[in-house]
Amino acid sequence: MSKKFKKETIASKAGVGTDKQHGAIIPPLYLTSNFEYDKIGEKQEYEYTRQSNPTRDHLIAALTDLEGGLGGEILSSGMAAITLVANILQLKSRVILPHDCYGGTFRLFSTLAKKGILEVYFVNQGHDSFLKETINEINPDLIWVETPSNPLLQAVDIQKISEQAKKYNSLVAVDNTFLSPSLQNPLKLGADIVMHSTTKYINGHSDVIGGAVITNNPEVLSELKFWSNALGITGSPFDSYLTLRGLRTLGIRMQQHEKNAVAIVELLSNHPKVGNVYYPGLSDHPSHSIAKKQQSGFGGMLSFELNNGLSEVESFIKAVNILPLAASLGGFESLISHPYTMTHGDLTSNQKKEIGISENLIRISAGIENTDDLLDAIKNALK
Ligand SMILES: *Cc1c(COP(=O)(O)O)cnc(C)c1O
Repeated sequence: MSKKFKKETIASKAGVGTDKQHGAIIPPLYLTSNFEYDKIGEKQEYEYTRQSNPTRDHLIAALTDLEGGLGGEILSSGMAAITLVANILQLKSRVILPHDCYGGTFRLFSTLAKKGILEVYFVNQGHDSFLKETINEINPDLIWVETPSNPLLQAVDIQKISEQAKKYNSLVAVDNTFLSPSLQNPLKLGADIVMHSTTKYINGHSDVIGGAVITNNPEVLSELKFWSNALGITGSPFDSYLTLRGLRTLGIRMQQHEKNAVAIVELLSNHPKVGNVYYPGLSDHPSHSIAKKQQSGFGGMLSFELNNGLSEVESFIKAVNILPLAASLGGFESLISHPYTMTHGDLTSNQKKEIGISENLIRISAGIENTDDLLDAIKNALK
């Protein structure tokens, strides 16, 4: 679609009016594994759905447009999207990742390193020495960035990392799941690759597992096309259809997610039973200024500490029954989670301490419910 439209319009118009056969407003769902040849040696535009499919293409086109890329792929999960990026690297490539990256990312890359396939370095990308010394010492082929981080919402400067990476001929890939293309566009800040778990905000309805990788680099794009087909990890047409349906309301959902997050943060920040509150919109959050610079919103995720230990955390989570206890995020429904035992349960207590995750920490993915209902539920549970 033409680049002159704003994001909400791109999302709502994706594929609309493209059906030549019947003029259907919504493009039909192509549930087909294969496509007919015109004659020997002459295939039509599509051949086999593992490789490409019209429904999936509408979703790729919309996300490419929203991220300002050249093209990309839709995969069967966020982890499949990360697997795809890992597979475009040469044997023994050097990869830098954040020490507090998504658990699945950590598991995949650390295992690839153990098998001798990649050389992997997990570092604190927010540390002063990262740009000045660490990149130089490691001389990477890929810098994997995840900003803001889970669950403390620490941001790193995509533009500065990308500038530095160019000097070492390193690619930069950004996991943009926590903000969605609505609130952050890494390619426009200098990154080469942007990755999403579309399971989260992009689909937004907690009923599909999916992933996406978008790039603005033609060589990377042809590698992505080759490997997604070779590995057989592209997303199904039905999941693509549902995800495109979810994407249409992304802009307006993100507004309500953020509105609810801000209201919850305000309530928690002034409550005597609550310690630290982590939300980049707070002026005393360590990443406030970076977030303000590179994001167009502070998003719908927040976390906070209760003052009185695990038993209080347990009774709070039990009492706040409007929020189910679940590890995912980015759906229309608010969710609460306990990072110490859930998303970060596999880390040792020392590792958790190093990245600042205490037993008292609670994460909330703010949904799109009525703000007052959420505030009442949280207020009552704190009592
Ligand atoms: C969920 C998530 C993933 C993995 O995506 P799946 O769709 O669950 O495979 C990767 N990165 C982040 C930041 C996530 O939240």
